Amino acid sequence: MESLLSSWYATEGRDLPWRRTNDPYAILVSELMLQQTQVERVVPRYIAWLERWPTAEALAAAPPGDAIREWQGLGYNRRALNLHRAAREVADAGWPEDLTELPGVGPYTAAAIRCFAYGENVLPVDVNVARVLRRTGHSFSATSAQALMDLGATFCVARTPRCERCPLASLCPSRGVREHPVRKQGPFEGSFRQRRAETLRLVSGSSHALAALDEEAVRSLERDGLVAVRAGVVALPD
Ligand code: SF4
Repeated sequence: MESLLSSWYATEGRDLPWRRTNDPYAILVSELMLQQTQVERVVPRYIAWLERWPTAEALAAAPPGDAIREWQGLGYNRRALNLHRAAREVADAGWPEDLTELPGVGPYTAAAIRCFAYGENVLPVDVNVARVLRRTGHSFSATSAQALMDLGATFCVARTPRCERCPLASLCPSRGVREHPVRKQGPFEGSFRQRRAETLRLVSGSSHALAALDEEAVRSLERDGLVAVRAGVVALPD
């Protein structure tokens, strides 16, 4: 099954900029951006980010507010702050043995860095990869990581897998089976997440009086370290 997958990936795999590097910092940037944002939206932002801050040291030298501002539009802005904090830790003390000690780096992201940057045989299992593993019942090695991600994003999708075009169809026990996944995330429109995003967008443009903003959203952003409130004025952190 693995050889079928790798032949397919050799001709059909997506050419993504983070697949052309083994720099752990660049992999970290891509993985944090990809955590909640679609690949197509991440590509130009990833390129712009690395042009602006090509190394962890360069990012560490910038104020966190710049990182938050640069992140605008990607959503889940705490990721920007975590990335900035991680860059400062790496710039100060190097990459830790246990990568999950870095802010924002959970077991999946740590596995991705170990696999894509350090070439270790650790398979990073995101939702797409997990779905393919479950449906095929096969254990793939880490060399198949990118191919599994592409297969899970294109053919072996959650709701209606396109088994008729899948390179693994001849060996897959789940071929033709449909699932009805539970929708986990509520709508963004009208949500508290939207109020936070809108408030942060305003503050990213310029400082605002607290009284002119959605205070509940401000306090939540403040708790996450995404904004600072001083003397009734809300601004990005210095
Ligand atoms: S045959 Fe269908 S269920 Fe099996 S891996 Fe391919 S797309 Fe997924």
